[in-house]
Amino acid sequence: MTLKSKNAVITGSTSGIGLAIARALAEEGANVVINGLGEEAEIEKTCSAIEREFGVKAIYHPANMLNSGEITDMVHQAEKSLGSVDILVNNAGIQFVSPVEEFPVEKWDQIIAINLSSAFHAIRAAVPGMKARKWGRIINTASAHSLVASPFKSAYVAAKHGIAGLTKTVALEVATHGITVNCISPGYVWTPLVERQIPDTMKARNMTKEQVISEVLLEAQPTKQFVTVEQVAALAVFLCSDAASQMSGANLSMDGGWTAK
Ligand code: NAD
Repeated sequence: MTLKSKNAVITGSTSGIGLAIARALAEEGANVVINGLGEEAEIEKTCSAIEREFGVKAIYHPANMLNSGEITDMVHQAEKSLGSVDILVNNAGIQFVSPVEEFPVEKWDQIIAINLSSAFHAIRAAVPGMKARKWGRIINTASAHSLVASPFKSAYVAAKHGIAGLTKTVALEVATHGITVNCISPGYVWTPLVERQIPDTMKARNMTKEQVISEVLLEAQPTKQFVTVEQVAALAVFLCSDAASQMSGANLSMDGGWTAK
């Protein structure tokens, strides 16, 4: 129980990687704020399962990552109800696949807001409390696409390169305050986000589902296997540990060798 008495906010934690990170932090004893879209009843079930399984508090905040005021409120509400935000995981993200000349402008704006600007708003709200307590862990879920590009993902690749830059900048600013800031860059992880982009990729590349999985998704990954959400979550737990106190500003790949190419 390395994180007992710590409080964590994880954006986009109603599903996929974020949910796995929330569960892994809770398993280590942290109270968690769950955030993201979804059915109220399902989210309630998720929170009570975490509380029951790990004996911690799990609170839901519905902040929409498109809205800076709601993001700030999420951090402030967490500080009020739990006492602090010690760990902030900026994880919410969406994807959209289209040639750049046809890329819908509103999709570009949404992806930049949800995948990049939301992290800025949450960090901005959480850093003063972390500085006051001289301890903090900020983890941003970036992507292999923070390091390399793929066609038809202009907004996503731009946002993910942006979050890698934001990570490095904030790491430098808070380095003497006991706060570390890192990003995790997964390759393809089998989650609803990946599943949902298959139909559009089929259309954009004129391929079958099987072709998209083997020739587009796993083609990039030398191991030919998807990363699991539990593997990403284990890295997040490590980043919160004392053993990682000198790791900051890093962009940690977990991509089956993709970006080694
Ligand atoms: P997911 O679709 O399972 O989860 C995304 C989460 O973000 C959900 O909880 C969703 O409700 C939330 N979300 C979406 N829009 C939101 C909004 N406007 N406001 C609040 N919450 C919102 O996807 P995932 O694969 O778990 O993705 C999580 C993160 O991991 C994303 O940043 C994604 O870019 C990144 N990532 C995923 C992969 C992958 O292969 N799955 C690879 C690299 C990086």
